[in-house]
Amino acid sequence: MYKELRREAFEANREIPRQGLAIYTFGNVSALDRKAGVFAIKPSGVAYDDLTADDMVLVDLEGKIVEGKLNPSSDTPTHRILYRAFETVSGICHTHSCYAVAWAQACREIPVFGTTHADHVAGNIPLTEVMSDEAIKNNYEEETGNQIVRLFTGLDPNEVAMVLVACHGPFAWGASAAKAVYNARVLEELAKMACLTETINASARPIKGTLIEKHYQRKHGKDAYYGQGKE
Ligand SMILES: [Zn+2]
Repeated sequence: MYKELRREAFEANREIPRQGLAIYTFGNVSALDRKAGVFAIKPSGVAYDDLTADDMVLVDLEGKIVEGKLNPSSDTPTHRILYRAFETVSGICHTHSCYAVAWAQACREIPVFGTTHADHVAGNIPLTEVMSDEAIKNNYEEETGNQIVRLFTGLDPNEVAMVLVACHGPFAWGASAAKAVYNARVLEELAKMACLTETINASARPIKGTLIEKHYQRKHGKDAYYGQGKE
């Protein structure tokens, strides 16, 4: 059971160090079988080189471990909350990639400084508020998920598939685990470009709305014409 799901989560986790998104055991990816209400996630504290597909832990959307010998990632409750709230999402990736973390630690949204950014997200990369003491002490990982969900009131997780958690780091998601890692990698690149932009020009401003719309819509709009057809 869930062999394919385990394999999908495993492959996506292996992609994290390949893409330079984390060192040691930082970061985790999960893959959801929405129909079964079960997701496969990286075990806690196991180095990427030592991982096998069989090590993936299967957890249901209530938080119960369905299968697995190892403890799931400590961030599992965050993944669970996001899957419950974002119904089209079937893959989630959390890393501590350097530039995205730098913006999260600076407690700043990433401004949409250029068309590379607008190709993926038609606005700033959103940032959560700093968590309250009460939330930190109670259900820290669950509250991290709740904070993201609250921030997305009025935001479409299909259009903005990435977020910065203040003082912590990035979460990204997508229709599959592979797509979630892709978005995490895109976010890291956008974070780096924005950082360099401000280094070169401290008073750089976001690009104008027409340019944002042009770039976002030609790739994602109903009349998208970028690439070789709809994904
Ligand atoms: Zn983390």
